[in-house]
Amino acid sequence: MFKISSLKKVIINLRKCTKFTIIIVISMFLIVGIVSSFYKPIYSVTLNGEMIGYSENKSKLQEKINSYIEKGNGENVAFVDISELPQYKLCLLKRDIVPNDEEVFEKVISQGTQYYKYYAVTVDNQEKSYVSTFSEAEQIVEQLKQKNSNNKDKLGIIEKYETELKEFATVEKTVADLYEKKVVKQVQSSTTIAAKGVNTSGKVVNLGISLIRPVSGTLTSRFGARWGRSHKGIDIGAPKGTKIVAAASGTVTYAQYGYGGGYGNHVIISHGNGVQTLYGHCTSLLVSQGQHVSQGQTIATVGNTGNSQGNHLHLEIRVNGVAQNPQNYLY
Ligand SMILES: [Zn+2]
Repeated sequence: MFKISSLKKVIINLRKCTKFTIIIVISMFLIVGIVSSFYKPIYSVTLNGEMIGYSENKSKLQEKINSYIEKGNGENVAFVDISELPQYKLCLLKRDIVPNDEEVFEKVISQGTQYYKYYAVTVDNQEKSYVSTFSEAEQIVEQLKQKNSNNKDKLGIIEKYETELKEFATVEKTVADLYEKKVVKQVQSSTTIAAKGVNTSGKVVNLGISLIRPVSGTLTSRFGARWGRSHKGIDIGAPKGTKIVAAASGTVTYAQYGYGGGYGNHVIISHGNGVQTLYGHCTSLLVSQGQHVSQGQTIATVGNTGNSQGNHLHLEIRVNGVAQNPQNYLY
């Protein structure tokens, strides 16, 4: 009897309990329903401890930020340096408050620094021009080398990471700007330079040697002022091919064919003590540089080369580079 009655009690209690549980479950649903009709789950976003907004889709927003850090939002952006990443906190928000993912994104990136990547073409390590890609920089260097630009060995390419973008130049313009014409180095030993000066004082400098006439002919032009310029020697007219002999013994310090600064094919002989003789406008040269010649030795033949009108020998006598009047010694 006791057993039955206690079992009844248990059943009654159990029924009460179930009822109670059902009531609790139903009311919970009701509460959730009411809450979710006014509120929804959302992420509040803070940056540097400051609330900057609400995100509806945290993973989408973070993905967008990550992609921005990696690529930036423009051409030539290498990467973006963002010092502080946003913090997210799940919360419930009243439905009438609108999430502002876009604004949050803008705020996050506004504190970032964009680094641009581009290339500088350098000459002598100085940045001369900026281009967007490495291949453009390479083309510029390659084209300048092909054109044999004078600065072709001083060219370089530098990879630039800067927070500001430079104005880019085209390959064609840069090549045109940087191209330097090759300067043909003139053979200019001390023996080929023109006379340092002209002795017009009339004072006769002692040469310490005696000279003989290099060619016999007619004196056609004297030393000194001539057509507003100074004639640094004398001209002796003679037929083409007439032998020219060394006025004194010495060493040939110049013997070259060519325009020779107006002298044409010419020979310079150094006689020691700073004394030199020069033989200009020759047809053929019969000695070579470094050769020792004796007085009276044939060194060249008369001609009309260089800045010359008519066959003649232009003879100069220089002492320490200063042109002397040959008529003080000869003719
Ligand atoms: Zn002359």
